[in-house]
Amino acid sequence: MIQQRPITDWLPITKKELDKRGIDQLDAILVSGDAYVDHPAFGTAVIGRIIEDEGFSVAIIAQPNWKDDLRDFKKFGKPKYFFGVTAGCMDSMVNHYTANKRLRSTDAYTPGGVSGFRPDYATTVYSNILKEIYPDVPVLIGGIEASLRRVTHYDYWSDKLMPSILVDSKADLLVYGMGDQPLREILRLLKKGVPFENLRTLKQVAFLQSTSEVLPKNKNWETKELTNHEECLRDKIKFAANFKIVEVESNKWQADRIVQKVGDKTLVINPPYKTMNEKEIDQSFDLPYTRLPHPKYKKRGSIPAYDMIKFSVNMHRGCFGGCSFCTISAHQGKFIASRSEESILKEVDEVIHHPEFKGYISDLGGPSANMYKMKGKDEAICARCSSPSCIHPVICNNLDTSHKPMTELYKKVDALPEVKKAFVGSGIRYDLLVDDFNKNNEDGNHDEYIEQVITRHVSGRLKVAPEHTSDATLKVMRKPSFKYFHKFKEKYDKISAKHGINQQLIPYFISSHPGCEDVDMANLAVETKDMGFKLEQVQDFTPTPMTVATVIYYSGVHPYTLQPIDTVKDKSDKLNQRRFFYWYKRENFKFIRDSLNKAKRPDLAEKLIGQKKTDMSNRKRPEWLEKRRKMDKK
Ligand code: SF4
Repeated sequence: MIQQRPITDWLPITKKELDKRGIDQLDAILVSGDAYVDHPAFGTAVIGRIIEDEGFSVAIIAQPNWKDDLRDFKKFGKPKYFFGVTAGCMDSMVNHYTANKRLRSTDAYTPGGVSGFRPDYATTVYSNILKEIYPDVPVLIGGIEASLRRVTHYDYWSDKLMPSILVDSKADLLVYGMGDQPLREILRLLKKGVPFENLRTLKQVAFLQSTSEVLPKNKNWETKELTNHEECLRDKIKFAANFKIVEVESNKWQADRIVQKVGDKTLVINPPYKTMNEKEIDQSFDLPYTRLPHPKYKKRGSIPAYDMIKFSVNMHRGCFGGCSFCTISAHQGKFIASRSEESILKEVDEVIHHPEFKGYISDLGGPSANMYKMKGKDEAICARCSSPSCIHPVICNNLDTSHKPMTELYKKVDALPEVKKAFVGSGIRYDLLVDDFNKNNEDGNHDEYIEQVITRHVSGRLKVAPEHTSDATLKVMRKPSFKYFHKFKEKYDKISAKHGINQQLIPYFISSHPGCEDVDMANLAVETKDMGFKLEQVQDFTPTPMTVATVIYYSGVHPYTLQPIDTVKDKSDKLNQRRFFYWYKRENFKFIRDSLNKAKRPDLAEKLIGQKKTDMSNRKRPEWLEKRRKMDKK
């Protein structure tokens, strides 16, 4: 159990632990908006372990109090090299507020699930505090909040465009995307004595410099200039056009450096690293994590995000789906970084030996469960490609979508005597498994995969995400036509029937997405009703920083075509779209009937909820009935 391990198995988070290790001055100090969970699914733990692995001393200030005399920020004193700052695993605003901007009452990354342990815009708040207390110590920011706010972006919560987070945070350097590779390089250079302010020719970092300064030299990089921040404030279309450049460059093998003027500074974003190879990603997962929350939290209750993943294993990073509303490829990249089978099985073994393990692995997954080991057949073609998605609008001929390595790995885990069941809890890209959409199923390995999943890896319900039924909305979402979901369901039902298995298929949907109108929602309700679904896994679109959909939401145009696309923005309009998910609730009947009558689609209301009696009274009575009534009156 937690108590049986020496405290030195964790990275230190208290002064007492530091003293125990005999450390006077730390090399680096991490400040995080999350509680410290020493597990590879938690960014702060990964970064801390990498720093340690490179031979530096490091401690974590987890969820410091930013409202008192700031003693938490001072408890370890001044680090020798830098402070590393992150808001945590989520953008702090997404963590704090619902899609309707209501304050959430819980926080999955805090012991007891208690909210209120990190500030809004946590990266900026922490970084400013550190700059105030230790003005001469460099601050390095990273994590999803910093990464996706690295350039002019729309902030839904303040409803305005914000400049690169480097401006408000006053940080010295920003690492975007997954930090493993740039961080190791930063540490190696610091060890060699390179001053922090000279770390400007590294890949995957961003920084501000004076507009009068010459850009750091790197003969391998071309440079693309974006429309400056102030011009973006004046012209939404220019902001939208900027986004296309940022997205394309983030997903390229050989990307360009991006620059953007903001006030009297130039923002410089160096190109990203090439996707991690197997050895590199294994190295990050094989670090000596305890896989447990720090014992200090013992009395404060469990950490919900940890409870969710403590028996799960992440097999890869990245996603080539490129969905408009999603930030995974913007942060983790379009190319898949897959772990070796050996590294995954080693982690499975660690899960098996977790003191609370009862035989069930909750997820053998990834951002999209079934992309493990997938990549271009000819990587030379990928090296020249600039498409933001490998599977939209069609599946690229060059994409190897073999599900064989996954199926084999699932079988190996399934065969372990200690494992009663190993579930696939992450969402599955069903479209990859539909032959009409993905022609690349020559040897039937896709069918073998679904059969393996249905028979051995579903915990009663399989999650898939068609996200909508309207082809027009799906196109904006960069998702395939809903007809392929029907095809998948046919396959799913057939295999389930063959094995006498009755497991629910749970489709996920989004309302209020750019391009989605009330009638689309009504059609969604009718179509899913006809298929026998009573929807539960639904969400309202949230415009998070740096997605295509967010740019459309703010600018009113698609960043690639600059053609107009409408989005419902008003709170009540958004709620109304949501009501179509719950068409079966009596309190929504009147709204559904009225809005569809107004849209001249009473037929959809009829299909959903039938006609109301009062409406029947308006129908013209047959002639014989009218005559009879008149006679009766006489
Ligand atoms: S060539 Fe095809 S598989 Fe390779 S990156 Fe481009 S879209 Fe993806």
